Amino acid sequence: MRSALQNSGSKPGSRRAFVKKTATSTVLASALGTTPFAILNPQAARSDGNKLGIALVGLGNLATHQIAPALAKTKHVRLAGVVSGTPSKIESWRNQYGIPAKNCYSYETYDRIADNPEIDIIYIVLPNSMHAEYTIRAARSGKHVLCEKPMANSAKDCEEMITACRQAKRRLAIGYRCQFEPHHLRCLQFARERTFGALKMIEAGFGFRIGDPNQWRLKHRYAGGGALMDVGIYALQACRYLSGEEPTHIAAMETKTDPVKFSEVDESITWTMTFPSGLNCYCSTTYALSGINRLNAHGDQGWFRLNPAFSYSGITGTTSNAGPIHYSPIDQFAAELDDFAICVREDRESKVSGLEGLKDLRAIEAIYQSIRTGRTVQVAETISDTTL
Ligand code: NAD
Repeated sequence: MRSALQNSGSKPGSRRAFVKKTATSTVLASALGTTPFAILNPQAARSDGNKLGIALVGLGNLATHQIAPALAKTKHVRLAGVVSGTPSKIESWRNQYGIPAKNCYSYETYDRIADNPEIDIIYIVLPNSMHAEYTIRAARSGKHVLCEKPMANSAKDCEEMITACRQAKRRLAIGYRCQFEPHHLRCLQFARERTFGALKMIEAGFGFRIGDPNQWRLKHRYAGGGALMDVGIYALQACRYLSGEEPTHIAAMETKTDPVKFSEVDESITWTMTFPSGLNCYCSTTYALSGINRLNAHGDQGWFRLNPAFSYSGITGTTSNAGPIHYSPIDQFAAELDDFAICVREDRESKVSGLEGLKDLRAIEAIYQSIRTGRTVQVAETISDTTL
């Protein structure tokens, strides 16, 4: 008998199979607070109908299996162009999605996108090390940028990306899809309304067993790190958005059971974070085994939890005394894409702005620093610093 994962069309055990599951849920119209900053000129919708035009840069797994299908459902943005180094991929995307040749670019011709009024937004779906360069070039071409997580390989690169977008007066958002997912939004509402009292402890973890030892995710120069950069970032993000605070102290430990496969990047990391309110977070991430996918939040009057917590779908939640958390399925990528298009139209900052990506990278650098030094790292002021 075929398993649910096999039926999903993904290779069992693959990264895609791990995060792709079935589910139910309704969009909760609750959102994280945004920080308005009116430095940008609104860019009028120039694409057909009222939809903004988006070009995808990097036509790999995520672009092919999640983002392109999501763009068939979006109300405010449409697939207008592609950028790839592989001509055969461009040909196949052109045939499948009816993209005109004038909207297709190679990495060499990428900057000519500046002259293309049909493309308003560029979505960077490349290996992590390429996010900074392609975001900065997009901003200089006058385009708004949605960039996949992790924002870049270093906090310094994140700062340069934010500066480039500000200088070009263009919006920048990071692909933190969970912040548009109704179970997560409900949890955020629990946290803000103190439904279960003040949050005292969060346990969060995300990991999967990684396959092909030759992929870019295991090469430091492309990935910037291992499981932490790739999926641990979801646990980190969740602790930050549920608490609404930045950690003051971070302590971390790394374990490697396969030093050959993981010679360049981290295999498994556990870390703790202390927040100003007294909240303690215990987090884990791994490339060594599947099934770690949880978010447990404990207040002083009860708890709520999601498990699985960070998948593309199938997110399931329950609470100590308020019943299950249950919503109809949504396409997280479609919600994220539409939200960014609206932000661009309305000239306002996304709740998943570049600053959010930068703060995560600063926390990630503190986690690696703690591993290197064997000490607890004091981070409060560093992470909160918004003076770029
Ligand atoms: P992938 O390897 O499937 O695709 C990467 C693409 O980049 C490929 O089309 C490849 O041809 C292209 N590329 C260009 N130069 C390259 C180079 N030098 N080396 C390798 N590839 C090169 O990766 P993916 O899974 O699609 O991930 C892309 C990005 O999306 C990553 O930053 C990843 O963290 C992020 N991601 C986010 C989610 C999410 O849920 N938000 C899920 C998966 C991946």
